Amino acid sequence: MIRANDPSLHSWIEIDAKSDFPIQNLPFGIFRAPNRDPRVGVAIGEYILDLCELGRRDFFELIDLDPNVFHRPYLNDFIALGKPIWRAVRNRVSELLRNDNDEISGNSNLIRAVLVKQSDAEMLMPVKVGNYTDFYSSIEHATNVGTMFRDPKNALLPNWKHIPIGYHGRASSIVVSGTDIYRPKGQTKAPDAEAPTFGPTRLLDFELEVAFITGRETELGESISPNEADDYIFGLVLFNDWSARDIQTWEYVPLGPFLAKSFASSVSPWVVTLDALEPFRVKGPVQNPRPLPYLEFTGNRNYDIKLEVLLQPEGGQENSICHSNYRYVYWNMYQQLAHQSSNGCNIQVGDMYASGTISGSEKDSYGSMLELTWRGSNPLILSDGTERKFINDGDTVIMRGHAERNSIRIGFGEVRTKVLPAV
Ligand code: CA
Repeated sequence: MIRANDPSLHSWIEIDAKSDFPIQNLPFGIFRAPNRDPRVGVAIGEYILDLCELGRRDFFELIDLDPNVFHRPYLNDFIALGKPIWRAVRNRVSELLRNDNDEISGNSNLIRAVLVKQSDAEMLMPVKVGNYTDFYSSIEHATNVGTMFRDPKNALLPNWKHIPIGYHGRASSIVVSGTDIYRPKGQTKAPDAEAPTFGPTRLLDFELEVAFITGRETELGESISPNEADDYIFGLVLFNDWSARDIQTWEYVPLGPFLAKSFASSVSPWVVTLDALEPFRVKGPVQNPRPLPYLEFTGNRNYDIKLEVLLQPEGGQENSICHSNYRYVYWNMYQQLAHQSSNGCNIQVGDMYASGTISGSEKDSYGSMLELTWRGSNPLILSDGTERKFINDGDTVIMRGHAERNSIRIGFGEVRTKVLPAV
């Protein structure tokens, strides 16, 4: 077992039992606080542990790293150091926060120097995203979309169970939780209209996804197997892949999604490491037909992470509208990364790979408004009595996620985004 995952560990910092950030989690992020420029931190309860300040005071001297790597506005340089270093740093942080360790806890000046309240800090994009790929790996989502737009009898296209479908998205418009987005404009054409028009989307949607972040490069021409992919994946974030359905319908033939997707995607700020999620590995859906050899894997490679979507109208209450789980994805992230590299395309540090909309089999587990309202034919009724077919201006969409077992809760925090009118 990874030492920092020991469920018997307790911290000298008081942590609520419902907190997403117990001592067994220790996710990495980039924060800014008064008198602190952007730097690397670790979430612990309601606090952030400032790794930059710890590094300056030689708390990582037994680990082979330059402590300046924590004084950066992105995690890229840190995660480029590789898995043995990520693991050593997380284990060291765990040790410093344990209730039987007084290296920090015994010094009140030091506590003030290295602990920041999360409520006093602003979270920034955790990584500089080089490349962004969006997969389409939930069989329930692909079936729902195929049923709505094509043919219920042949909802899945013939390739779907053989190949992890995906497309290359836009990295520049990936924004961190708390960043407002504008309703996008684009070309749309109603089925009965003679010509397209240009204007704000009428069918703005979210997509509930989880994205993994790579921390190791491959060379051009090199491929990795699903089993090798373990060493390339640093951690996971929640991912809202904003979509404009009317723009998408008109533009996607024949090359796939383009401007209907690239206007924004939103991520949660804390990167939960694969190490922290290790106890939550589960078997994925049975893959039949058997995948081609380059996609074969051993062991449990799905993760039991509960996911929730909430919709909050301007000035109103949060309405829970979806409960899903990352374990439902048909193609796991290791297969996704193997597939991505199978043609020799090089993997880079800080790349983001989103799962595709994660829908379950129940109606309240669908991960998009498109599915929840079945293309608008069955609107959601919110607690204030208003209806939603898609997302309105002023609405805030919130996604939360956590894994939990034996009272140990490994959470992601949230990704929260407000939609502003088109400009
Ligand atoms: Ca998507």
